[in-house]
Amino acid sequence: MDSISRERRTANMAAIRSANTKPEMLVRRFLHQNGLRYRLHSTGLPGKPDIVFPSRRIAVFVHGCFWHGCRKCIDGRRKVRSNADYWSEKICRNRKRDRLNVRALRKLGWNILTIWECEIATQSRLAELASSIKAAAPQRSHRSARS
Ligand SMILES: [Zn+2]
Repeated sequence: MDSISRERRTANMAAIRSANTKPEMLVRRFLHQNGLRYRLHSTGLPGKPDIVFPSRRIAVFVHGCFWHGCRKCIDGRRKVRSNADYWSEKICRNRKRDRLNVRALRKLGWNILTIWECEIATQSRLAELASSIKAAAPQRSHRSARS
């Protein structure tokens, strides 16, 4: 195996992308175990938050460190050797879009919680997330969460 073919590289990138759904699964499982019931991928909201608690007005984003340019870990600063400019621009755009989505959601009265892929390994960070969600009491006046 002396060089990686283009096909192979594409397959590798696809694998990275689908692996990125895994952190979200871990977060979901943790929240579920903690008695929190949520909705997924609210397409009607800016940025399609990964996990939504409509009655508490909380939207959770689970960010892959590489794709969203995490500043807390090495993955977020990783440079892709081929097409470096393409990737850094892409990630820069992702970060910008994330910020705009957060702003738009706040305007609509949502609270936004973001958890990074690299934080998920830490149980205490997950516990913190769960307690922030629980701290926001469901609003009865809001349209029934159970529809
Ligand atoms: Zn990170």
